[in-house]
Amino acid sequence: MADTDLMSIPGQIDPVPVARDITPREDGRVDLIGLPRKRIAELFGEAGLDAKQAKLRAKQVFHWLYHRGVTDFEAMTDIAKTMRPWLTERFVIGRPDVVEAQHSSDGTRKWLLRTADGHDFEMVFIPDADRGTLCVSSQVGCTLNCRFCHTGTMRLVRNLTPGEIVGQVMLARDTLGEWPKGRMDMPDEETESEYTADGRLLTNIVMMGMGEPLYNFDNVKGALQLVMDGDGLALSKRRITLSTSGVVPAMERCGEEIGVNLAVSLHAVTKDVRDEIVPINKKYGIEELLQACADYPGASNARRITFEYVMLKDKNDSDEDARELVRLLKAFKLPAKVNLIPFNPWPGAPYECSTPERIRSFSNIVFEGGISAPVRTPRGRDIDAACGQLKTAAQKKSRAERDREAAAAEAKD
Ligand code: SAH
Ligand code: SF4
Repeated sequence: MADTDLMSIPGQIDPVPVARDITPREDGRVDLIGLPRKRIAELFGEAGLDAKQAKLRAKQVFHWLYHRGVTDFEAMTDIAKTMRPWLTERFVIGRPDVVEAQHSSDGTRKWLLRTADGHDFEMVFIPDADRGTLCVSSQVGCTLNCRFCHTGTMRLVRNLTPGEIVGQVMLARDTLGEWPKGRMDMPDEETESEYTADGRLLTNIVMMGMGEPLYNFDNVKGALQLVMDGDGLALSKRRITLSTSGVVPAMERCGEEIGVNLAVSLHAVTKDVRDEIVPINKKYGIEELLQACADYPGASNARRITFEYVMLKDKNDSDEDARELVRLLKAFKLPAKVNLIPFNPWPGAPYECSTPERIRSFSNIVFEGGISAPVRTPRGRDIDAACGQLKTAAQKKSRAERDREAAAAEAKD
């Protein structure tokens, strides 16, 4: 059985140790999902193939895994028949287990998933007229304790591996029936015409599920590289957005090494309020965060940074807050858009959502300041799939316990 112990939690705002790149399996076989081509070749080499064969087979297998979505080595028709059982004995092509799938009345779908070592996490698919967005989790739980977020009431159980992260995208494609059809090994006219990847439902990915993606940097990077690989899932970096609560030291690396769009959970414009609702602010303050945004590699007027702002009644939603938001974004010359998120309630949450009139007034002020500020329509609220409602049953912590941990972590800094 794999290691299921809770990870030690080093305090609410410190980086967490990176999990193994492969979750061990009881049957000793290795799950190839999540591994880059080079690592697959190494494993084939360790299993006995010579270097040239290992490289060639890895290239073929990689294409079948990530571009065609097959889950059985027998389906790999350009690999010799005798080679396929050799692969099956040693390797598997995994997917996260689906514990439960729910469908909202507005079309949003939520899946409760389970890792091979028994940890639950969630994934959400949000269909729109012109796009379909998959909201992907990066951790089981979260070390941060944002006060309005349901995931924040969980402990961090562990980081998800690259395979568990990219596995969410693969599972979504399985469910939506979106792998290219046809036989690429016989590209004659007839079969080539079947080989199509157009008209997909899943067009965008947001790293906005459970967890703080920049505290699981290497695994998120590994997974997104597979998603962006032209011979893999082949999704453009322009269609991927990573949301961070403000892990300033990792933001530049994110832009340079991953290169996806950035969203920042700002949520407040004064130190007092942000300290309270997004506690990582005590470590990396608003000015430092906005400077890191101004320096974000790849940001431009064509690729703006999204500032997420949850609307909490009488907490962060005054006209004065809106004016200060405009001032700050302008002071740092940020290519910005603001996403106003009506607070999604959960049992025991200490806040209420702002009134629609308040949200409208806030949005108008930001808009008049020259910055687009749409209000995000809550999706999937009836199945608790909306922003900040994700939380698996395990690993509850009391508010008092979280406050104690936060105080202890601060004392350590
Ligand atoms: N940990 C990352 C990404 C996951 S949260 C981050 O914090 O950015 C995705 C977005 O949902 C964040 O902007 C988060 O602040 C917001 N959110 C969390 N709880 C919410 C709630 N109850 N209502 C509305 N938005 C919420
Ligand atoms: Fe973690 Fe993001 Fe929730 Fe904060 S908002 S507790 S960083 S998941």
